[in-house]
Amino acid sequence: GKVLYNQQFVERSKLIDIEDRGYQFGDGIYEVIGVYDGAFFLLDEHLQRLKRSAKEIQLSLPYELTELKEKLVELVSLNVLTDGVVYLQITRGEAERWHHFPHESVTPILIAYTKIEETLDEASKNGASAVLTEDIRWLRCDIKTLNLLPNVIAKQKAVENNAVEAILHRGDVITEASASNVFMVKDGKVFTHPANNYILNGITRQKVLELCDKLQITVQEEAFTIHDLLAADELFITATKLDIVPIIQVDNQPIGSEIPGETTKKIIQAFHSSLQALRIS
Ligand code: PLP
Repeated sequence: GKVLYNQQFVERSKLIDIEDRGYQFGDGIYEVIGVYDGAFFLLDEHLQRLKRSAKEIQLSLPYELTELKEKLVELVSLNVLTDGVVYLQITRGEAERWHHFPHESVTPILIAYTKIEETLDEASKNGASAVLTEDIRWLRCDIKTLNLLPNVIAKQKAVENNAVEAILHRGDVITEASASNVFMVKDGKVFTHPANNYILNGITRQKVLELCDKLQITVQEEAFTIHDLLAADELFITATKLDIVPIIQVDNQPIGSEIPGETTKKIIQAFHSSLQALRIS
């Protein structure tokens, strides 16, 4: 398929220079945006987060969000993507390798491409397992940067243990997972880590909070511990295109009754209705 390279649609080839700062330093930001039945889900929210990430690393967006939005819609239609994601990244550009920011004449490099990705229907319906691992990331996890090595290592541990995710903890406190946010249900209340520097404020997370509000489910954005998590009635994770996946086992220990719980199922149903609304609009 075609790749959006700055403002042009080009063929996928050797586009990236060996001295691209994303390649050498992870000096850049990204977004993964879900596409369902050919339509973007929560595109504006993703672009707003992109803008915030750019600001936090002092990177100027190479062009306006409204123009970028049009280009992304065009990319999806050019590649005839029905179900999948758009991966978008912006690096600080190509420059001789020095740690400090390059001269202002060096412009950021934006790329975006489409990727076919199916939703995890089986896991979403029956639940899946997760493992626990120490959160060894830096202290600005709220920025969606390209530096994902700790996440990569955590996810590898999950895969080696036939689990869908690695749930991260900083000491005793559960933060999030390697590529998703974590929610726990206890006595009918939903708990999730507050959106501060220790987690990425997921777009799916924010949607779930909005749905809980509509469903009149009490939410407490409060940190909880490993002990709380293992004693939870229900547990689930959220992320783009993964949507909502119930977690029924952690480190081989059952969570609640080891089946997707009632509160989780209610939220999943409401989430599916939002996706359905997207198909109609
Ligand atoms: N937390 C981390 C570390 C992530 O990489 C992601 C992205 O997949 C999420 C949470 C979920 O964010 P979103 O719902 O915006 O995809």
